[in-house]
Amino acid sequence: MFIGIDDTDSERGLCTTYLAAVLMERLRPYGKISGLPRLIRLNPCARFKTRGNAALAFALESDRPQKVKEIALKAVLELSDFSGVNTNPGLVIADDVTPRMTAFYRRAVTQILQIDDARALLDDEGIWYRGFKKGRGLIGALAAIGADLTDFTYELIAYRQRQRWGTPRSIEAETVWRADALTYPGTWDTVDHFNKRIVFAPHSGDPVLFGIRGSDPEAIEEAFQTIKSEPWERRVLYKTNQGTDAHILEGEIHEVCDSQSYRLRGFVDRSPEAIEGGHIFFTLQNGKGQIKCAAFEPTKNFRSIVKQLMPGDELEVWGAVRDKTLNLEKMNILRLAEQGVLVAPTCPQCKRRMESAGKGQGYRCRRCKTTALGRERRPLIRNLETGFYEVPPCARRHLSKPLVRMSGENIHHSR
Ligand code: ATP
Repeated sequence: MFIGIDDTDSERGLCTTYLAAVLMERLRPYGKISGLPRLIRLNPCARFKTRGNAALAFALESDRPQKVKEIALKAVLELSDFSGVNTNPGLVIADDVTPRMTAFYRRAVTQILQIDDARALLDDEGIWYRGFKKGRGLIGALAAIGADLTDFTYELIAYRQRQRWGTPRSIEAETVWRADALTYPGTWDTVDHFNKRIVFAPHSGDPVLFGIRGSDPEAIEEAFQTIKSEPWERRVLYKTNQGTDAHILEGEIHEVCDSQSYRLRGFVDRSPEAIEGGHIFFTLQNGKGQIKCAAFEPTKNFRSIVKQLMPGDELEVWGAVRDKTLNLEKMNILRLAEQGVLVAPTCPQCKRRMESAGKGQGYRCRRCKTTALGRERRPLIRNLETGFYEVPPCARRHLSKPLVRMSGENIHHSR
């Protein structure tokens, strides 16, 4: 049985991953969980998400399907925040993962879907489901089951004891930095070195104590053992599409749609401009179209790279398009444009720089008495290297592939 759940939490509390963790425990007497549960992130531009647009799925081998459905329903009713205006739980239990379900996942991670898209597929394929209130969670629940995870990473989430929910989290900061030092690059996004921040724990009232992300379960476990914190209630290792760029579509600038994420290639049109609040914008064009690209204030030190771009620089950019603007997640500077600066000419005899001979009268060398009419063009030395740059961990989208997962030269990790 493939069990998918989504949209059970609200800004005020609870968490779908916690519901899944509790449900897995309750189902243990009725079957065997096969493989790791999956934490699936869907289109980051989906309008009704609470935080990171997560949905959950796991596989269970059981010969008591009726009992499993009954227990799953009870858990959703008990552990969803039905008072949340935008909480519309969905529970899907399927016997198989069909190609149509996998195609549905691909659409859910890249496009905006309607609840009826999910219902139509569920009815067509004869899949058991229950939607509560508007049932919007059926989109995520179905997609999480269908996710094929051609690329994947892991996240270990530790959950808080119930009596501590809503209180400040107690985690020994020094042990978190040590865990990062011991296990990076097998783990990542635990801390943000440049911005001197711990980024692996939420600050909200939900049951999550912290989450350790990585590509290597052993490194994740070592990090977990290193971190000292308040006692946890339970911990679960998830297989996930986080850090894989599953949301990114290959695109052409003139064809992009809002609420979708792309990799685009083009040339910087005009020098980047900063606006109040510290947001930076530039235009990317490729002859057929142009698009505004943004590095917003929360992308912190990434902006200092963006600021140095100049017209004619050739780039690949990654990011979500919102209001016709691509929100940069990373970029690859393919080629720096040759830029020149106009300077006073050099004297052909003594090779020193000439001086102005007065307004509109050209230049002269005082020593050799040589003259020249106009200024000389000198190539500008760019203090910027080509290659990949990314936003820092504190600004990373869950689905964005961090540069630590990419191999090759010219990779400038944000670390
Ligand atoms: P958390 O990360 O705390 O679990 P969340 O950010 O995942 O919260 P949800 O409460 O799951 O937010 O709400 C997201 C809603 O958007 C769900 O109902 C989900 O089914 C729906 N959804 C997911 N992907 C899409 C999509 N591509 N198009 C339209 N709706 C979507």
